[in-house]
Amino acid sequence: MKEKRRDIVNDSMQALHALAKLMPLLNSQCSLSEMLGTINRVLGSTLAWVSVDDDDGLQRVVCAGDVTCHSFEVTDFLASTTLQRHKRSWRVVYWKEHIGRALFPPQHPGYTQLQSGVLCKLSSHDWHCSGYFFLAFDEQLNSLPILKNIVVVLVEKLKDYFEEIIAREKTAQEMQRVVTQYKTLFERAPVLMNSFDKHNRCVLWNAECEKVFGWSMAEVAAHSDPLVLFYPDPEERRRVRESVHVSPLKDMYEWHPLRRDGMQLTILWSNILLPDNSILNIGLDITERKKAEQQLAVKATTDDLTGCFNRSAILQKLKSALAANSRQDADSQFCVLMFDLDYFKQINDEWGHLVGDAALIHFCDRLREISPAGSALGRVGGEEFLLLLARTDGDAATRLSNQLRHILKEKPLLVGDRKLELAFSAGVVEVGLGQRDTSALLTRADKALYDAKRTGRGKTVLASDYL
Ligand code: GH3
Ligand code: MG
Ligand code: MG
Repeated sequence: MKEKRRDIVNDSMQALHALAKLMPLLNSQCSLSEMLGTINRVLGSTLAWVSVDDDDGLQRVVCAGDVTCHSFEVTDFLASTTLQRHKRSWRVVYWKEHIGRALFPPQHPGYTQLQSGVLCKLSSHDWHCSGYFFLAFDEQLNSLPILKNIVVVLVEKLKDYFEEIIAREKTAQEMQRVVTQYKTLFERAPVLMNSFDKHNRCVLWNAECEKVFGWSMAEVAAHSDPLVLFYPDPEERRRVRESVHVSPLKDMYEWHPLRRDGMQLTILWSNILLPDNSILNIGLDITERKKAEQQLAVKATTDDLTGCFNRSAILQKLKSALAANSRQDADSQFCVLMFDLDYFKQINDEWGHLVGDAALIHFCDRLREISPAGSALGRVGGEEFLLLLARTDGDAATRLSNQLRHILKEKPLLVGDRKLELAFSAGVVEVGLGQRDTSALLTRADKALYDAKRTGRGKTVLASDYL
């Protein structure tokens, strides 16, 4: 409840009484607008404001009261000619009546409502800010000194608080700005960010996490062990936990969590230890990039027409097999089969190039069907193929090629209602322990194949041990 205004404004005893009551209520724990509100309540004023130019040159205006007052109205008022007249000489200026007219435009309710008012300069030697304190009442003033003295006492008391409050509010504003920026970053960055507490409860889950994993924060938080949602395998879960809690990974490390629909993702995660010992997980979803890379890698090693390895890929496989073989491991012995289709030029000439293509595919498909697991088939030339057979000897390789010959007869390529039987010649090389020369091996395979061609085609020749 407001005090009886006229008494306070016009009666010195009442004014002193109100001031005494007001002083203990003003402390730096209140915000500036709370303080101004308290002043209005106890002194019965209708409007109170403080305008401060801080050391950044920014004008801050804080208002409180029954009449709404905007900072631009305060700025205009302070710049008005009424004040200019007083120049630097004054500390306190007051108006007995019609102060509302100086502050507001005619349509504003305060224009007629506000009668008396006091403006007091705020400044001190050690204070970085300078500014003004303003108090206005609905009543006209009878006696000027009372209000002047009230305001001077009040400003002396408030001066130090203002500095503290303004500094605190500035810090709070700055903190708020930083929080807003981080919140925006947290929500909008196309980066996965989440955090789980010691009890595995989800405490942070940004929008990107929801988008990529398909689970909302509420759903993840409701789960007693949310990691189960992403890593059903207990062993993988153990490794994830270890990586986060025991030795947080500063570098990005690849993990393969599941999405809500069960699809496996590829995520690069890094775990950042925060000052309060909690851990922030930051991740990048590279699932699509990884898929594209894998597709590219497959494309780079695959023969477009037949789907088997291309020349460079199969030769690389041969090199690797020879390197393993040179480590004297009995298990790493293998066989090389080199195939060349017989009279293929004639097939193209008689059946057309497209049928020739289909014939190459047919040949590879049938060969792959009977090749043991771990073998590798590659196209080394137009109608020439190389098959690497792990842990196979020359006889078994020869048997495999004879089986293929039989199948190509039994299951010829169907072209409309015509049948195209494919025939081929092949050379076999058994790769003994310690052999490591790729070109010598290929020369032997070529020679055996040439022997097969030279001696009538449609057969498989096992390379002799000598060139
Ligand atoms: P030989 O029994 O002596 O091996 O006779 P050949 O006709 O098979 O041998 P040659 O090397 O003279 O011919 C190979 C043919 O393979 C020539 C070429 O047109 C054909 N060829 C190579 N690559 C392809 C291909 O991708 N598609 C088709 N349709 N034909 C191909
Ligand atoms: Mg050829
Ligand atoms: Mg040929």
